[in-house]
Amino acid sequence: MKRRRAVVIGGGLGGLASGARLGAAGWDVTVCEAGPKFGGKMNTWSKDGFTFDTGPSLITMPWVFRDTFAAAGARFEDHVELLPLDPICEYRFDDGTRFDYGAQLPDWLATLRRIAPGDVEGFFDFMNLGARMFEVSEATFFRRSPFERPSPGEWRAMRHVPLRRGWGNYRKAVDHFFQSPHLRQLFSRYPTYVGSSPYSSPATLAVIPYIEYAFGGYAVSGGLYKIVEGLVAVARGLGVELRTNAKVACIETKNGAAVGVELVSGERLTADVVVVNGDAECTDSLLGKAPRKFRSRSMSGFVQLFGLRKPLAGIREHTVCFSSDYKREFAHIFDEHRFPDDPTVYVNAPGAGDTLFVMANAPGDTDASTVWNTAAVAEARRRVFERLRLGGFPDFQSDIMVEDVWTPARLETAYLTPGGSIYGSDSHGWRNAFLRPSNVNSDVRGVYHVGGTTHPGGGTPTVLMSAAIVARQIGERER
Ligand SMILES: Cc1cc2nc3c(=O)[nH]c(=O)nc-3n(C[C@H](O)[C@H](O)[C@H](O)COP(=O)(O)OP(=O)(O)OC[C@H]3O[C@@H](n4cnc5c(N)ncnc54)[C@H](O)[C@@H]3O)c2cc1C
Repeated sequence: MKRRRAVVIGGGLGGLASGARLGAAGWDVTVCEAGPKFGGKMNTWSKDGFTFDTGPSLITMPWVFRDTFAAAGARFEDHVELLPLDPICEYRFDDGTRFDYGAQLPDWLATLRRIAPGDVEGFFDFMNLGARMFEVSEATFFRRSPFERPSPGEWRAMRHVPLRRGWGNYRKAVDHFFQSPHLRQLFSRYPTYVGSSPYSSPATLAVIPYIEYAFGGYAVSGGLYKIVEGLVAVARGLGVELRTNAKVACIETKNGAAVGVELVSGERLTADVVVVNGDAECTDSLLGKAPRKFRSRSMSGFVQLFGLRKPLAGIREHTVCFSSDYKREFAHIFDEHRFPDDPTVYVNAPGAGDTLFVMANAPGDTDASTVWNTAAVAEARRRVFERLRLGGFPDFQSDIMVEDVWTPARLETAYLTPGGSIYGSDSHGWRNAFLRPSNVNSDVRGVYHVGGTTHPGGGTPTVLMSAAIVARQIGERER
């Protein structure tokens, strides 16, 4: 029987994972990546002996990664060594308070009893809310699109739906469970994992801190890019054709169905199905239609990478230096569409501690290429260093040997994501959080969507879940 052909547009995590899954299912697959390297936002940068991850620095839900490799007939552990983080992070606040968010419950409870004894019960209640959301999501949202008919098992999972606090505003839920201003700021941070503001997101996102605490946060020995390298090796082993510098100009259709793609080089590839891993907002353009814009886009990042002459002493692998006024910071980003005056700064110092990944949230809905000029970059850098100074970081500027900066404008150009927004639509309000672009294109038969800008959403594990959903949907629909 003639093998059927799939073209995947984009070699990000979602494109590679869906390519590998389809290859294992017997499809002839070609993955076309516009850029010079695979991995998309999960990427790497090297100079003068220093190597940095430029995107993710923490992963959760390790079983999703194992399942992805297993579906392609491989063992995740043969490619990637996960390193559990403990503490998960050190938090530093504007008033000088600092503490570790320990991964072991006894350690964390000791800290809680010291810093906010009245919030111990609130912590467990908040985690319970997240746990119930997880039980529902794991059986439903993480496995299929809300547009598919639920199975009996999924209906049964609905008994976990938290009726109280689960459907209100995220920040209000945090304020209900915690009295300590430090814990309120800490647990408000989690919607930023999907590029959103705690002041506008639904409380259902309490599933994120629960997942991180219950199942752990992980780094990867040798850097997170090992996950991309592993997937590339597995996909190649299955005969998947992987092409870089292969930007797709358009999806070709006939009688309302996809029949192939045309690259910007003019080359044409025929296909029975086309899987779009690029930003879902760009699919209409690929189909020759006027693009339908997302109502509001998730945040971007202002990332600086520093290779130091000597390791920075006394810092944890993950540190967050919180701004003095979290509400104002998100108002600057989402209401005023500008880089905050006082950004919260996240520092990742993997391994020996001589390579630093320093990130602050930035708007992902501006005309990034005009906003991020030289003066804006210099000013953002000054604000980041000021926050690090206030957070008690030693001044390491004279020890910088190599450095690189990733602005929203650079993210936009490198990964073809409008505004440099990292997660597509934001998760503000119930509709944005749960009715994300479907994995099946409703206009053109044979076109599918995979990745963080589609269902179930952004972040590495959910991207891999979307690849599982797409591969299953293709298996069911394209017989
Ligand atoms: C700075 C930063 C920090 C992050 N931190 C974390 C973290 O700690 N933990 C976590 O889980 N997640 C994190 N993320 C998010 C995570 O990296 C993304 O959710 C995930 O990698 C997205 O994968 P994807 O497959 O959806 O898409 P992308 O990575 O966006 O890949 C899409 C690919 O499609 C290509 N493409 C687009 N259009 C075309 C076309 N026409 N032709 C050919 N190719 C095309 C693009 O070039 C791109 O390579 C972070 C991201 C960034 C940028």
